[in-house]
Amino acid sequence: MPRIQRPVRPILVDYICDKCGKGSYRHSGTDNMKVLWSNPPKFPHECTECGDRKYFIEKYPTIRYAYEGEVLDLENYEQQPM
Ligand SMILES: [Zn+2]
Repeated sequence: MPRIQRPVRPILVDYICDKCGKGSYRHSGTDNMKVLWSNPPKFPHECTECGDRKYFIEKYPTIRYAYEGEVLDLENYEQQPM
């Protein structure tokens, strides 16, 4: 197959805290919150405001890529192969 190229634009995706609605979750690697080696792995996060803790399959904030004019489906995320 020939190689092709298409322009993409980076999209910053942040996750606002479910509990306080002010802060956002940040990846944290403290001793009592280790990565869960499930499939896919889950990464520990803490809210920057209230300290609420959650696990996510990606580390926030994260950058995804979209084609020109494409709107990302943030709720139904599948790992991008790039
Ligand atoms: Zn919070």
